[in-house]
Amino acid sequence: MLTRRLLLAAGAASLAAPAAAQVVTRLGPEAEQLTILSDGGFEMPLAMLAREVPTDAIAAETGPADPYRTVLNVTCLRRGAELILFDCGAGAHFLPGSGQLQESLRAAGIEPEAVTHVLFTHLHPDHFWGALDEFDSPLFPNARWLAAAREIDFWTAPKVYEQLPADRHAFAAGAQRIARGLGDKLERLQAGGEWLPGIAAVETAGHTPGHVSFAFEAGGQPVMVLGDALTHPRISFAYPEWRPASDQDADVAVATRRSLLDRLSADRTIAIGYHLPGAAGRVEKHGPAYRFTAS
Ligand SMILES: [Zn+2]
Repeated sequence: MLTRRLLLAAGAASLAAPAAAQVVTRLGPEAEQLTILSDGGFEMPLAMLAREVPTDAIAAETGPADPYRTVLNVTCLRRGAELILFDCGAGAHFLPGSGQLQESLRAAGIEPEAVTHVLFTHLHPDHFWGALDEFDSPLFPNARWLAAAREIDFWTAPKVYEQLPADRHAFAAGAQRIARGLGDKLERLQAGGEWLPGIAAVETAGHTPGHVSFAFEAGGQPVMVLGDALTHPRISFAYPEWRPASDQDADVAVATRRSLLDRLSADRTIAIGYHLPGAAGRVEKHGPAYRFTAS
């Protein structure tokens, strides 16, 4: 559980219906406040949660609903004059139910002009395609847009199609369209260092080749914005060795999950997952596996 000092307002009603445009949760003091905004959600076949695991074994962990409905959480950090977003939703051209960030920003009273930075964990559609508005202009006119050089290089390489199954080609075409739309505004940074003072990009490859997670402190507590390194509130923690179909390099993703789970549980970090219901919580070691408890 988060401390009372950190947890100002969690909005129990909003947690019960996490797929609509909304403020999912707020953490931290006013001057250094984390707000988690919903970009909506989408459905996917249960079988995608773990390759090579029978669907009924997956359903025993997730519940029987097939397709499975996931949520999209965009983290927003207010820090002095800075307003920093981590990823920016799916925009208008991905799946039904997603692309609701602009509405959630309005609900939170955040003007697009006020956003100073967008830091990307990776360039999948549900994290990157929201960077352009309906007129193909950058959604936040005053923002700096920061992504890992390795991730940009992968998705924008002419040969990317040869490295992806056919059903992922639209991901590459979309990433290239958004990167073109951002043009020079999309800055290339190296994983491993601080991208902004106090905000480190931790290499967490596997889900995509250049995937990063962001580590920083808020309200005096360690926080990590995980992106898609841990995507399911039970499976990713209890069975980190299961291989979701959405992980591009499944073996690397498993190794990344194991080292992240070790770090998050040892440091009592506030973990924020893009697809975790409730978004923020703590990770506890539980026998040979781990458990996520949303705040
Ligand atoms: Zn995602």
